[in-house]
Amino acid sequence: MLMGDPFEPPPDVPPRSVLTRDCSACGACCSAPDIHALQKPLGVPCVHLDSGCLCLIYDARPQVCRNYQPDWVCGEVAPIPTLEGRIWRFLEIYGLEQEMARK
Ligand code: SF4
Ligand code: SF4
Repeated sequence: MLMGDPFEPPPDVPPRSVLTRDCSACGACCSAPDIHALQKPLGVPCVHLDSGCLCLIYDARPQVCRNYQPDWVCGEVAPIPTLEGRIWRFLEIYGLEQEMARK
């Protein structure tokens, strides 16, 4: 693995998943984080995300979405079979699951 490889999980993350090296349109990053530019709350799928986890406004999506790059988190979340499960794992990785549980 190369130094600085964004797909290399940190040492404290067990290698639970097959290492994903690209976006598989799992929808987690469009659902788990809060996105101020879209007034999207934590843990709620973006209103522009369709049922197949594709962006309905892809060509007009805001800059924050354009800046997002796949990394090792994709390998952790994308193999989880449900969007709900992917959201929770994403929140867990970023330490946001307790904030979500308080909502
Ligand atoms: S979490 Fe990763 S694999 Fe899933 S939609 Fe976002 S960039 Fe793509
Ligand atoms: S605007 Fe599109 S890319 Fe951005 S969070 Fe919503 S569905 Fe995802």
